[in-house]
Amino acid sequence: MEKRRFIARHVVDLPKSGIRDFFEIVAKMHDVISLGIGEPDFDTPWHIREAAIYALEKGKTHYTSNLGLIELRRAISKYVETHYSLSYRPENEVIVTVGVSEGLDLALRAFLNPGDKVLYHQPCYVSYHPGVVLAHGVPVPVPTRADDGFSLNAEDLERAWQPGCKVLMVNLPCNPTGGTCDAARLEKIARFAVEKDLIVLSDEIYSELVYEGGHVSLATFPGMRERTIFLHGFSKAFAMTGFRIGYACGPGEFIEAMMKVHQYSMLCAPILAQEAAIEALLRGEDGVKAMRDQYERRRNLIVRRFNECGLKCHMPRGAFYAFPSVSATGLGERDFAYGLLEAERVAVVPGAAFGESGRGFVRASFATGYAQITEACDRIERYVQNLDRIEKAGG
Ligand code: PMP
Repeated sequence: MEKRRFIARHVVDLPKSGIRDFFEIVAKMHDVISLGIGEPDFDTPWHIREAAIYALEKGKTHYTSNLGLIELRRAISKYVETHYSLSYRPENEVIVTVGVSEGLDLALRAFLNPGDKVLYHQPCYVSYHPGVVLAHGVPVPVPTRADDGFSLNAEDLERAWQPGCKVLMVNLPCNPTGGTCDAARLEKIARFAVEKDLIVLSDEIYSELVYEGGHVSLATFPGMRERTIFLHGFSKAFAMTGFRIGYACGPGEFIEAMMKVHQYSMLCAPILAQEAAIEALLRGEDGVKAMRDQYERRRNLIVRRFNECGLKCHMPRGAFYAFPSVSATGLGERDFAYGLLEAERVAVVPGAAFGESGRGFVRASFATGYAQITEACDRIERYVQNLDRIEKAGG
């Protein structure tokens, strides 16, 4: 029986992640230092894990409200007000989701009619393009550049805009580049969104992990609150990836639409994760700060070492990824990554996995211990020096 004909066209046509084969090889190898991971190396702080354990002991094993526990929505509302100066009513302007992943999916499914276009900056998180396609939208990538710190600017958005654009997805700080935007740029982006009458999905999942200049939400600019879905979660700052918990905030009518999709697909986020998330918001701040400080130290090390060995690397202002150029080696990002893995047992992600404008770069996560990063940098340096020798020997 020919199975393929049963699979929806837009799913058949969706390419598999470009890095899958690569990481299957990594998984079979020994002694690999992986800088490929996109999650904190820290375990979730103990008091947060304990909250989940207590909840289980107390028999909290049932469904919650579709929107999530009201205690959690209240805590989210307060946290977002304190940290982002944004005010959302817990009763109808906050929805608890299964990670930011679900929040993005709900928004795309709730807002897109087939053929609606979605602008987003590139290089970007691997799920953005497929997420839009799965919601029957049309992706419209907007390139960002290394010499500009991979910051998004309104002029590039203007150039990429076309009739039919309905949504703008923004991820600041950005995975994989660590790029952010200062207030002046955000203001122009906000003006562009208002002028073009776009709905904005603002993925602020790395916003606690900013090392320069602080974080300002795009939703705070004039005319933006009414057209922005603020997406956030616990995976990165609180080291809670396995809990699968996040949230979306926005105007009631938008949240209501997202809630419909959520109600009929997911029903609610897992209750134990919701209980843990309450604890994280109420008492997790010190843990976040301690982890952030570690990431900053590691960032300074890895970026310095990349530049010292000739791999030009801008300073990521946020998140936990360095995104150096490998063009000085004469290799493409794929050959560089495969060669490095084979010769020195270090895994980095070829930049094209994050879109065309990631070509010539690799992503190296610094959500890895300081000692391991040091060892990885020694190995990368040796690899690059040997490449150099090969090139020279070959004339
Ligand atoms: N957005 C971005 C930019 C990410 O990097 C990730 C995870 N790597 C997510 C969303 C999804 O996070 P989660 O579903 O764990 O909240």
